[in-house]
Amino acid sequence: MTSTKPRRLVSTDGARIEKLERHVQALMQELHQARYEQRREALTDALTGLGNRVALADAFIAAQDAAAKGSAPPALLLLNLDSFKALKNSAGHAAGDQVLVTVAMRIQSAVRENDVVTRLGGDEFAVLLPATPQTRATAVGNRILAALEPNIDLGNNSVRCGASMGLRIAEPHHTIEDFLQEADFAVDESKSEGRNKLKVFDPATLHARQLQRQIVGELREAIRSDQLVLFYQPIVELANGRLEGCEALVRWNHPVHGIIMPDQFIPVAEATGLIAELGRWVLRTAVGQLRHWRNNPATAHHDFSMRINVSAADLQSLEFVDDVSEALAEESLPPESLVLELTESAIIQNNELDRYTLASLHRLGVGLEIDDFGAGYSSMGYLRKLPVDRVKVDRQFVKDLGKDPSQLKFLAAIQEVIRSCGLEGVWEGIETAEEAEALRSIGCASGQGYYFGRPLPEADFTAQLARQTVWPA
Ligand code: C2E
Ligand code: CA
Ligand code: CA
Repeated sequence: MTSTKPRRLVSTDGARIEKLERHVQALMQELHQARYEQRREALTDALTGLGNRVALADAFIAAQDAAAKGSAPPALLLLNLDSFKALKNSAGHAAGDQVLVTVAMRIQSAVRENDVVTRLGGDEFAVLLPATPQTRATAVGNRILAALEPNIDLGNNSVRCGASMGLRIAEPHHTIEDFLQEADFAVDESKSEGRNKLKVFDPATLHARQLQRQIVGELREAIRSDQLVLFYQPIVELANGRLEGCEALVRWNHPVHGIIMPDQFIPVAEATGLIAELGRWVLRTAVGQLRHWRNNPATAHHDFSMRINVSAADLQSLEFVDDVSEALAEESLPPESLVLELTESAIIQNNELDRYTLASLHRLGVGLEIDDFGAGYSSMGYLRKLPVDRVKVDRQFVKDLGKDPSQLKFLAAIQEVIRSCGLEGVWEGIETAEEAEALRSIGCASGQGYYFGRPLPEADFTAQLARQTVWPA
């Protein structure tokens, strides 16, 4: 609407025209008011009276324009109420609404007037702080979390409603969608770290997550399409160099990245549940390989067992014992030809299911060995209680052997504890003849390490089996 006054008409019936003018002006004003209301409604969340998604986008564009002209970029605080769904289900819809309205008021009262508080839907709130650096935005966020802390009175009862909060400072290239998405990622991080926390968006964490997601997808495919391979490493009798067993160690032969070591994908597999499928693949492949070696005239003269690494998740699976006994039956192998290596941390969780699985495996007759012994827990009391028959001592102990002559006494003491528990000790990480000799001198029975042989692909290990009678050659 232009502000210049309409030019007065010189007319005899000026009064009539003036009346008409006033009428038009009134109509214009009404129209304006209606438009204004319409826009306000379009920008308002009906339940709480806060701004909505459209209002947030408007405020974001204005703040980004200001930032482009030299002021600081805006900050976004995004919050999700903790366990709001559960609350609504138990207390009812109306109570849920009441909580949302109270939360809206509390957020509003914790921020400054030109900060834009909005509700994006459900129990999701966003606060845009124009031209705000991270330190101040963090302070505001913590103030909001503190404001949400007191119980909310619902008449006949009261509830506590904390929130998970993410903070993102806008970048010049951000659209409102990216901006919200990255703040939302910080909210997820906050949730996974325990609720009622503020988490600042971290691009490195986002990158790591994306990479993990990519790895999970590719790993699933890798298990199915034969990209996994097993390497085999000898376990040797220290007294005579005779082969006692071999440990199957998995690698991922990635079509683009080449050989990937287990440390880089086993934790991902464990975190996502893929480990069960991976473990089954390792079990079947390793047991099948042992059958091949026993059938092959060039290698059949060795009598050694296969060792595989078992993860904590396997002990938690009800099918695991059946998988093991089926794999052995299919290859007509006796149970003692397989030894399962379990880490202390896997075995020591010691819940009902673990104990059941361990006892069933023990009854089945497969060997059970504690792996990385001494790496984590100091208590040795469990050695006596668990149905295991071997202990593989963590390679850290052998590594320290060269540093300090008194270390050998310490290793002898460990060996004595293992022996007095009625168990056999295997020492890993033996890299030199001196280490092997030192361990033999204190009565250790078996060893594993680069001195005897590195983990080798199947063809190379088969060639060694055909060629060698003792390790090292
Ligand atoms: P681990 O069971 O303790 O396996 C021994 C690791 O030590 C292997 O690393 C092996 O290559 C390495 N090693 C052997 N001898 C020496 C030595 O003399 N010196 C040194 N410095 N290292 C030696 P790798 O193959 O990278 O495996 C790492 C870990 O990944 C294993 O530790 C095991 O916990 C896990 N892993 C490997 N294969 C599997 C599998 O099939 N399933 C599961 N669940 N975990 C696996
Ligand atoms: Ca192992
Ligand atoms: Ca180990």
